[in-house]
Amino acid sequence: MRYREFGNTGIKISALGFGGMRLPMVERDGVSHIDEDKSIQLLQRGFELGINYVDTAYFYSNGENEIVIGKALKGWRDRVYVSTKVPTSRIRCQGDYRRFLEEQLRKLDVDYIDFYHFHGLKQVSYENVVLEFNVAEEALRAKQEGVIKHISFSFHDTPEALINLIDTGLFETVLCQYNFLDRSNEKAIAYARAKGMGTVVMGPVGGGRLAVPSDVMQRLVNRKVRSTPEIALRFVLGNRNVSCALSGMNTMEMLEENVRVASMDEELMPEEWEDIAVAIEENKKLAELYCTGCNYCMPCPRGVDIPLNFRLMNYHKVYGITEYAQREYGKLLATEESSAKRAENCVECGRCETKCPQQIEIRRQLKETAKALG
Ligand code: SF4
Ligand code: SF4
Repeated sequence: MRYREFGNTGIKISALGFGGMRLPMVERDGVSHIDEDKSIQLLQRGFELGINYVDTAYFYSNGENEIVIGKALKGWRDRVYVSTKVPTSRIRCQGDYRRFLEEQLRKLDVDYIDFYHFHGLKQVSYENVVLEFNVAEEALRAKQEGVIKHISFSFHDTPEALINLIDTGLFETVLCQYNFLDRSNEKAIAYARAKGMGTVVMGPVGGGRLAVPSDVMQRLVNRKVRSTPEIALRFVLGNRNVSCALSGMNTMEMLEENVRVASMDEELMPEEWEDIAVAIEENKKLAELYCTGCNYCMPCPRGVDIPLNFRLMNYHKVYGITEYAQREYGKLLATEESSAKRAENCVECGRCETKCPQQIEIRRQLKETAKALG
C-alpha cells in the first residue's frame, strides 16, 4: 500500500480508503440488513492489507453502518482513522450537532472520531445551517475536547461553491467526487491541496458504473489494462493532489484488486493519460447523465428503479453496448415487481429530482431511457 501526506494533518493516509456505504447486505424478513460477518471480515482484511482510513455516515445502511464499522475496528482502532458524517440536513437548532456526535460515538463505540464531516455540505447549507446555528463553534469545541480530531466536509455542489467552502478556513479535509469521466472538481481539489487540506475522492470508479466489461473499456482507452476499475483508480491516484481514493468495496476480489492497484509504484505514462483524455472526449455525452448510483433519489412511489435505468442507459449511450442494455431492460418484464422498475412507469411527480446531488433531470432522462431501450 502506498501512503500520502494528508494535507497539514500530519497523518500519512493510505492511497486507498475503505468506503463503508456498499458493504454486503442480506435480507431478513423482507428487510435488507448489513451482512455483519462478511462485512467485518472484509473490512479487517482491508486493514491487514494496509488501508488505514474507513469512511461511514449516520445515514448509511439505515443507520446500521456505523455499528458494523465500530465492530470491525475492535483490535484496529489505534491503526485506523475513522471518518463519519453528521447529517447536516437534520441540524435544526444549536445543540443538534453535539447530540448527533454523541450518538455516533456510541454507535461506533469509540472515544473520538478522527474526521468528522458535515455530510453533503453545499453553499446554501453552510449558510443556513453552519452559520445560522453557529455550528462551527460547537465543532471547534468538540475538537478542543478531543472527541473529534479534525473538522471535515463531504460535498455535492458546484466547483465554485467548493472553493468558497475551502476559503472559510474551517475545514481540514474534504471528501468530493472526482473520476476520469467527471473532472469538474479537479481545480478545486488542487486549490484545497495548496491550502494545506487533505483531499479524499469518492466514486473513483464512478460508483461501480464504470465496471463494464474490460474489452469495452479497452476499446476506449486502447491500452492493455486488467480491468476498467484499474484504469479508473490509477487515473485518480495519478493526480498528486488527491490524498486518498475512497472505494465502496463489497467483495474480497474487489478489495484485493483495488489494493493491488493502490500499491503500484509506477505512475501512469503520458500516453496512458492521453488515451484517457481521448476516452473522456468520447464520453462527454455522459456528463448529462452522471448518475453515481447513490440511491438518494429512491424510493420512487411508483417503484421505478432510477439508478438501474440510468446504468442501462449509460451502457447504451456511453459505451455503445445497446443490445446488452436493451436485453437487460427487457428482462425487467419478467415479473410484475420488476416491470415496475422500468423507466416508462414514471408519472413525473418530480419527488426524486429534489434529492439528486447531481442535479440530474431525472424525468427527462427517464423518458429518453424508455424511448431508447423500450
Ligand atoms: S418523477 Fe418519476 S421516477 Fe421520480 S419519483 Fe416521481 S414517478 Fe418516480
Ligand atoms: S439519479 Fe441522482 S440521486 Fe438517483 S442514484 Fe443517480 S445520482 Fe443518485
